[in-house]
Amino acid sequence: MYESQIASSITSFAEYHRRKKRTKPYTEADIKHVPCFKCGKPSDQQWQICSLDNEYKGLCQRCDIELNEVVLLFMGIPKHEVNIIIEKYSPKIVEIHYRPPGREHG
Ligand SMILES: [Zn+2]
Repeated sequence: MYESQIASSITSFAEYHRRKKRTKPYTEADIKHVPCFKCGKPSDQQWQICSLDNEYKGLCQRCDIELNEVVLLFMGIPKHEVNIIIEKYSPKIVEIHYRPPGREHG
């Protein structure tokens, strides 16, 4: 069995999830054990990425917020509105961990 071969050849749960292709969403309990796809910290959210064969990738709170901001800006929402949306989305995390960059994109 392919999955069990992968699981036995690697040691940590984190490494297992880094290599394994995940096509179903993680449960709320499992996502905490998945390393953030961007920075490796414990994940809090997950994104399904169509261009990676619809794989689910875990993201920590900070990276999830940054990705949300990038998406909103890409959709053409003005920066000042994006800042308000992001602060409403996760005010505690924005306050503690994340300050929007001072310079505008582009
Ligand atoms: Zn992260």
